[in-house]
Amino acid sequence: MEIQHNTSLKKYNTFAVDVLAKQFAKFSSFNELEELTSHAIFNTQHSTLILGGGSNILFTKNFDGIVLKNELKGIEVVKKDAEHIYVKAAAGELWHDLVLYCIENNYAGIENLSLIPGCVGAAPIQNIGAYGVELKNVFYELQAYHLHDKTVQTFNLTDCNFGYRESVFKNQFKNQFIILNVTLKLNKQPIFHTQYGAIEKELEIMQVKEFTIKNISQAIINIRSSKLPNPKVIGNAGSFFKNPIVSKFRRYTIWEYHKDVVSYAIDAMNFKLSAAWLIEKCGWKGYRNGDAGCNPLQPLVLVNYGNATGQEIYDLSEQIIQSVKKEFAVVLEREVNII
Ligand SMILES: Cc1cc2nc3c(=O)[nH]c(=O)nc-3n(C[C@H](O)[C@H](O)[C@H](O)COP(=O)(O)OP(=O)(O)OC[C@H]3O[C@@H](n4cnc5c(N)ncnc54)[C@H](O)[C@@H]3O)c2cc1C
Repeated sequence: MEIQHNTSLKKYNTFAVDVLAKQFAKFSSFNELEELTSHAIFNTQHSTLILGGGSNILFTKNFDGIVLKNELKGIEVVKKDAEHIYVKAAAGELWHDLVLYCIENNYAGIENLSLIPGCVGAAPIQNIGAYGVELKNVFYELQAYHLHDKTVQTFNLTDCNFGYRESVFKNQFKNQFIILNVTLKLNKQPIFHTQYGAIEKELEIMQVKEFTIKNISQAIINIRSSKLPNPKVIGNAGSFFKNPIVSKFRRYTIWEYHKDVVSYAIDAMNFKLSAAWLIEKCGWKGYRNGDAGCNPLQPLVLVNYGNATGQEIYDLSEQIIQSVKKEFAVVLEREVNII
């Protein structure tokens, strides 16, 4: 365990934005983390950023503080009951490796969350979700280390206050805790969620006769690989914006002029609108300015074609927000963490 100075973060964020961290350190055990946080740096005024896979972050400038890269490893079954298996994974495990482990062992519940980049420890931060399933559907508890009190605390489902791409860790406890591990409550008997997106169509193409968690995972991997740019090839952080939730009256006003509006009711009074549809309607799909652009296949994804700065990508996101606001009176919110 070593504290480095003026370290480039280019290989630690999937936008591949080249910024420097004033200090940078990795920890792969709880003892190392305790040792690090007892360092003199933590007694002075400083900013701390916990980094997993850097797949939901946009750095707009150098980071004037210490970046802690979480490399805690380990996956284990901690409890079983008649219907469930409780799997505990350390925060530095890759999320998709955990999905593969569960599929291999026939533990059902996270197959729809296949191929989401990043680490287990970041999954609760925004309550990751895809194809009709969110982390909260299988979440049991997590343990987190308080950076200032130096205590380990346990959070259950209620404590985390999960919402759509939201949790307490993005709000009142922002930057206060380091998530150490997450325990999921998985099902022995799978409950298949195939109605969402193009899953059923893909299963048909795959000529699947019988649903299993393995072939649902494979269908989702196929769909995602065909739609989303691979961050190893083109820098991106997945969906840059959240799908906005609007009143049924606002949605009706849009529908009056655009019968093709993509939306669905979330309750009697509110609709979720497709941010991708709004962005495309404003003409941004495939837009490129220098190396910052809006993906030609999925306009919700902003991309770095090579040497865009974080500020350039941020500025593009601001232009998109303003044009959607002007055209539809809807304010898009960024999903990606801006640093
Ligand atoms: C191609 C692509 C597709 C994607 N698809 C999806 C999708 O379908 N659904 C979805 O929800 N997301 C998606 N994402 C976004 C991203 O993968 C997830 O948000 C993921 O959980 C981020 O993990 P990470 O380890 O990379 O987090 P980072 O980017 O490293 O961190 C994200 C935030 O979490 C904090 N954090 C990270 N680890 C910890 C920890 N141990 N303790 C405390 N705070 C921590 C960071 O400080 C930061 O604020 C996608 C991204 C890409 C590039």
